[in-house]
Amino acid sequence: MIVDCHCHAGLGDGLTGPWDTEARLGRYLPRAAAAGIDRVVLFPAFHSDYAVANREVARIVARRPDRFYGFAFVHAERDRGRVAALVAEAVQEHGFCGIKVHRHDARITREICEVARAFALPVLYDVMGEVSVVELLAREYPDVSFVIPHLGSFSDDWRAQHALIDHLERHPNVHTDSSGVRRFDLLVEAVQRAGPEKLLYGSDGPWLHPGVELGKVRLLGLDPADERLVLGGNFLRLIASVRTEPDRALPSRAVAAGRPAPEDPWAGEQFPGD
Ligand SMILES: [Zn+2]
Repeated sequence: MIVDCHCHAGLGDGLTGPWDTEARLGRYLPRAAAAGIDRVVLFPAFHSDYAVANREVARIVARRPDRFYGFAFVHAERDRGRVAALVAEAVQEHGFCGIKVHRHDARITREICEVARAFALPVLYDVMGEVSVVELLAREYPDVSFVIPHLGSFSDDWRAQHALIDHLERHPNVHTDSSGVRRFDLLVEAVQRAGPEKLLYGSDGPWLHPGVELGKVRLLGLDPADERLVLGGNFLRLIASVRTEPDRALPSRAVAAGRPAPEDPWAGEQFPGD
């Protein structure tokens, strides 16, 4: 079974670019069907209210629950204090099985990681090249599965992508997806060093073509069993333990709300002796 683990759906409420304007599936779906893709993980485009956007995705998933999985998009700052509520609704009412976070919105927080842990949900976090945080995520939340898409950088920052391979190799709970990665040999190196169980096929549809992105995985020339892991087996493993009831107390609204966003106190002072 082939699963595209990374596809956007629904309307954004901005007009900045495709990423916050619309992610209609009209062209994506026949392309995916022609490419032999069986199931697709859907989450919203950028939106100013992910409670609204996640519900729109839920309606799309509900039309074809045999074909779609849903991930709840969460804004680490704007949704501070309500992550547990957003995710509980997504899991319990909509059958979602993961969390999407994007650094363009805000950096990931402990609140999000703790909610993910309570529901055993994988977290797809786009670090936008800020790969160093993966060290902290992997060590603080070894029981949470993270997928760092685009090999760490949609804009193909090879330094970040190369650094991510190191994390993939060292941390059992860190994965990546193939979506949008252009430097093919970095994908080759990722699989060689970290193993096929650390790479997930994803397209970043509907903006990228699922068949083109699938072709990249095929061209890795993996053993059939390894290719099956990349094309769906790994994803199914990551969602195998999702719980609809949290197994521990969730971060409380009162505690999480109102905390200022932490910043790096030494940013810009990395070499104070110079
Ligand atoms: Zn994306």
